[in-house]
Amino acid sequence: KKIVYSGIQPSGTFTIGNYFGAMKNWVPMQEAYDCLYCVVDLHAITVPQVPADLRRRTYESLAILMAVGIDPDKSILYVQSHVPAHTELTWILNCFSYMGELSRMTQYKDKSKKQGNNIRVGLFDYPVLMAADILLYQSDLVPVGNDQKQHVELARDIASRFNQQFSPTFKLPEPYFGETGARIMSLQEPGRKMSKSDENINGFVSLLDDPDTVIRKFKRAVTDSDTEVRHDRENKPGVSNLMEIYNCTTGRSLEAIQREFEGKGYGDFKLAVGESVAETLRPIQEEYKRLLADKGYLESVMKQNAERAAKIAYKTLMKVRKKTGFINL
Ligand code: ATP
Ligand code: MG
Repeated sequence: KKIVYSGIQPSGTFTIGNYFGAMKNWVPMQEAYDCLYCVVDLHAITVPQVPADLRRRTYESLAILMAVGIDPDKSILYVQSHVPAHTELTWILNCFSYMGELSRMTQYKDKSKKQGNNIRVGLFDYPVLMAADILLYQSDLVPVGNDQKQHVELARDIASRFNQQFSPTFKLPEPYFGETGARIMSLQEPGRKMSKSDENINGFVSLLDDPDTVIRKFKRAVTDSDTEVRHDRENKPGVSNLMEIYNCTTGRSLEAIQREFEGKGYGDFKLAVGESVAETLRPIQEEYKRLLADKGYLESVMKQNAERAAKIAYKTLMKVRKKTGFINL
C-alpha cells in the first residue's frame, strides 16, 4: 500500500478552504492507502502564538479531524511535537538545504511580508520541517492544497540531493490534489487564498461558524459590479470563488450553477451558497462537540498514535544518522 502523509497547523479554527482543499480528500484516502495525518504544532510556532491558545487549538484540531471522518484506528492521527524525530531530521536536512531555494518559496514571501522586520528563522525554515515530516515516513503521496505544491517539490529536491550524495534513503514524494483540486479564496479579497490565520474574520468561514454567521459572511462576500453569475477567475474572481464553493457543497457543475442563477441577482446566489455551506457544516459541528467534551479520550488517541508514528520515523532517522556520520548506539 502507498503511504499518504498530510498535515494541518493548529494555527486557528479550520476553514472551508482547509476542508474542501485538503481534509475532505483525506477521508476517502483512508480506504486505499496507509495514511498519516498530523496536527503540526511545530509549524504553528513559525509565527507568534499564545501558548494557551495553541494548546487548546491542538485538542480542537484533533477533534475536528475526527469529526470530518479521519479514523484514528485506520490512519495514524497524531501531533507533530509528540514525535521528536521531526525536529532531529529537520536539523540534518537544514544542512542539505540552500538559502536560495528557501528564499523562493511563495508562502515565505507572503507570510514574511506581514511580519515586517521581525521575520523569524523558523518561518524561513518552515519548508525544511515539512520536508522532514514527509520524508520520515517514506511517503508516496502528499495531499495538499495548491498553495503547498512548491513545498512538496522542495522536499523532493532535498531528498534526491541526500540520496545522491549518499545512497537511496528517502522515497521521493509526490503532491496529490483531490478531484476538485479546490483552492478557496478569501471572501473579502478573492485574489488571496482563504487562510485561517487571516486577521479579517470576514475573509474566511470557519468550520465552527454557526449558520447565521456563515450566511452573513457570504452576504458580505466581495463580488463585482456586474450582475451575472458566470465563472471567470480572471475578471470575476469573487463570483467564481463562490461558484466553486457551491460546486464543493452541492456537486453541481459550474455550468449548471450558472443556469440555476440565470436572471437572478447576486443576493439570491450568495444566500444559496451560504445556506449550502451551513448545511454541510452542521453534522461536522455536532460530532466535533461530542468529541471535544472528552479530553481524556483525545489524549489517549494522541498518545497511541504518536507511538505508532514514532516507530516508523525511528527507522528512517537511524538510517539518516548513520549515513550522515553519526554514531548510533
Ligand atoms: P495558515 O494561514 O495558518 O497558514 P492555512 O489556512 O493556510 O493556515 P494550513 O494549516 O497552512 O492552513 O494548511 C492545511 C492544508 O489546507 C494544506 O494542505 C493546504 O494546502 C490547505 N489549504 C489551506 N488554505 C487553503 C485554501 N484556501 N484552499 C484550499 N486548500 C487550502
Ligand atoms: Mg498555510
